[in-house]
Amino acid sequence: MKQRLLFLGPPGAGKGTQAQRLAAEQGLLHLSTGDLLRAEVEAGSELGREAKAVMARGELVSDALVLAIVRSRLEGQDGGWLLDGFPRNLAQAEALDALLASLGQSIELVVLMELDDGVLLQRLLSRGRADDNEEVIRHRLEVYREQTSPLIAHYRGLGLLQSVEAAGTVEVIGERIAALLTTQGTDS
Ligand code: ADP
Repeated sequence: MKQRLLFLGPPGAGKGTQAQRLAAEQGLLHLSTGDLLRAEVEAGSELGREAKAVMARGELVSDALVLAIVRSRLEGQDGGWLLDGFPRNLAQAEALDALLASLGQSIELVVLMELDDGVLLQRLLSRGRADDNEEVIRHRLEVYREQTSPLIAHYRGLGLLQSVEAAGTVEVIGERIAALLTTQGTDS
């Protein structure tokens, strides 16, 4: 059973929902950089103050900052984990590879959740989070396309990528993802 996983996909694809379910089911550590950053903002920490305005604009928080968050959580973690929302650009992916190499760990599977932009926009608009107004959402989709989507080719090249259609009920999509944990091979 694969247990060091990464979830990739545009904002609104349902990564957080599926990651949380799967992590609970499989006893994996769920690391969502978005959730961790929102917790820092909520707590009013220095890190949170730094991140708040950047997040509200739909831009990416600095690589160094998110990497420090992820490193502190992965160090000393013996069991499986599921990264959700990180890495978000090639620099973060390379930093993650280096971090994992230093920890003697490696990614076993990258799940790409795919969904149409129109559906994404509707889902995000109905969610109503602080950074979920139409202008900021469009910008987040653009940031995804420009900075994050190159990771698809990166992980496909490493033979780690599997994609799932992210339309349907939470349960059905959950079953599609669960099936990938036990299968060999990847998308070509
Ligand atoms: P969504 O899945 O809707 O994009 P997230 O909760 O993953 O939402 O992220 C919300 C915001 O937090 C992002 O728009 C960005 O500002 C910040 N963020 C989260 N993860 C990262 C990351 N790995 N690198 C930089 N910024 C991040």
